[in-house]
Amino acid sequence: MLTRRAFLAATGAIAFAPASPLSAARYDLVIKGGRVLDPSRHVDRVADVAIEGGRIRAIQPNIASAGAAEVLDARGRIVTPGLIDLHVHVGADLPPATLLRDGVTSMVDGGSAGADNIDALVRVAQAAPNRVRIFLNVARTGVATPGELLNIEAADVDAARRALAQHREWIAGVKVRLSQNVAGDHDLEALRRARQVAGPLPVMLHVGQTYSPLPKILELLNPGDIVTHIYSPPPHSLLDAADHVLPEVRAARKRGVRFDVGNGRNGHVTWPVVDAATRDGFWPDTISSDITAPGRTFRVFDLPTVVSKFLMLGMPLDEAIACVTSHAAANVSAFNGLGTLRPGGPADVAVFELREGDFEFVDNVDAKRTGRGKLVASAVVVNGKRVKFSDSISSSAR
Ligand SMILES: [Zn+2]
Repeated sequence: MLTRRAFLAATGAIAFAPASPLSAARYDLVIKGGRVLDPSRHVDRVADVAIEGGRIRAIQPNIASAGAAEVLDARGRIVTPGLIDLHVHVGADLPPATLLRDGVTSMVDGGSAGADNIDALVRVAQAAPNRVRIFLNVARTGVATPGELLNIEAADVDAARRALAQHREWIAGVKVRLSQNVAGDHDLEALRRARQVAGPLPVMLHVGQTYSPLPKILELLNPGDIVTHIYSPPPHSLLDAADHVLPEVRAARKRGVRFDVGNGRNGHVTWPVVDAATRDGFWPDTISSDITAPGRTFRVFDLPTVVSKFLMLGMPLDEAIACVTSHAAANVSAFNGLGTLRPGGPADVAVFELREGDFEFVDNVDAKRTGRGKLVASAVVVNGKRVKFSDSISSSAR
């Protein structure tokens, strides 16, 4: 039997000199001909993306791909940094890998677990093929017992601090849910305790239908803290009685507090609130899904669907993509360098079809609206590796 070298020598096919620096032979993957959209670098043009060794190596037109290990035809598609979902709930019933088919390469679990049950969630994060970080719920049980802060002693600062110290690599912040059905009349005390635990890390607070008015809550926040469910309906929404955005909300944004969508299923988004806020120019900093296992088939579906809602509402595509890439990455220090297609950086990439037609989108009370475009993921790359997702799985998920 001929060795590979002898075979090649016999056929004269290939010389053994190392490939020249510009040869495509060294690339693991070339994504050809897509509309490359990277808001972090103000890139929006048709180009190829070359990936090697887990990193983006080049973005330019006409990269020679003949010698690449794999070529992905992205003509007519949109090529973005891998999406970052800042608010999800993963676990045994919704493994992080499930979200890969939506183009989600990084995510933050928003308070599924507290000090008593964090270990299991850390194991989920460790086993995931995509990047998972956790906002530790200040309540000991997380959301496992809804109404987790009705007894304020569940917000055990010492227990939460111990959990954080033990899992410093995985816990990226602290989550606190403040709605009255979760925290009763002690929302402010729960938030104070969450802030105490977090120290320099961000607190993500779930607002909407709180006991206290939103301005009282915002007073307690540091720059970098994240308000999720910003378009929650009253009581105590971000709007005043005349349906204008409260000045305290704008002031909080000005001093560095971030405002996140957190679509979810109940009590978090209604069209009239979104309409009033965006009419006043108050668009989100980040778009997150608040996806759960039941949310896969009810009102949420997936992150690209939530982004498509904001396209319907009039957000430009590049701004909407920024909300799920570079803006989202800026909230988590472990995501430093993600949310961009910067050459030399980690190759997390998503490829989307922007389907045209009539698509129905719902808010949290099932009010229907029709949009003209819908983003659907068609390929995803994590750390330079293309993820294969079967068509059957991807179509049953949406
Ligand atoms: Zn949530």
